[in-house]
Amino acid sequence: MADLIFFSGTMDCGKSTLALQMDHNNSTRGRQGLIFTKLDRMGDSVLSSRLGLSTPAIEVHDDLDFWDEIVERLTSGARIDYLICDEAQFYTPLQVEQLARVVDEMGIDVTAFGITADFRTELFPGSRRLIELADRVQLLQVEALCWCGRKATHNARIVDGVMVVEGEQVVVGDTAAASAGLVEYEVLCRRHYMRRMNSHAARAAAVSPDVLPFDLDVCPVPPPA
Ligand SMILES: [Zn+2]
Repeated sequence: MADLIFFSGTMDCGKSTLALQMDHNNSTRGRQGLIFTKLDRMGDSVLSSRLGLSTPAIEVHDDLDFWDEIVERLTSGARIDYLICDEAQFYTPLQVEQLARVVDEMGIDVTAFGITADFRTELFPGSRRLIELADRVQLLQVEALCWCGRKATHNARIVDGVMVVEGEQVVVGDTAAASAGLVEYEVLCRRHYMRRMNSHAARAAAVSPDVLPFDLDVCPVPPPA
């Protein structure tokens, strides 16, 4: 019986590393699979992990139909036992539905990996549909840490060193668009996410002699915009 499984977590929690490991484990058992990804940090058609490993992958564009893609490959003689789907938060809800159909009607295992919520703490549409449809949702066991040492549960977007909570949902990191400034991401605990206290802001607060960055009174929750 095939399953649709969604491994979720924050950024930096090792999702792509686990995706690569899972592909390796399957292929050494003689199973044949396909690897999909979208907007990987290393560029098109590659799945890469922060630990330095990478493998070729099929880039998921918005017009890719998983059902048609798999039917075409099976018809031309390929054997497919499983799909590894990385960066699944960027897939469309329709593509997630196609993946569920591939599981149910073709008996192919689909394991998806993705971030649940964006830098505004809102669910990505692809992740929302996966949570709704998956046979099993599993939180990654390797936890990313906030600069304060607590478990990091939120993804923050940093533009030119300053945390922002408004903007386009998808802006891939390490890009310096002329208008937008340098976009980076940092994982934070909820407490420091709510107080817009990224590591840069914490360092700035710490150089002031009479305040501690951990003191919540010096970094109150900003009023709603
Ligand atoms: Zn923290």
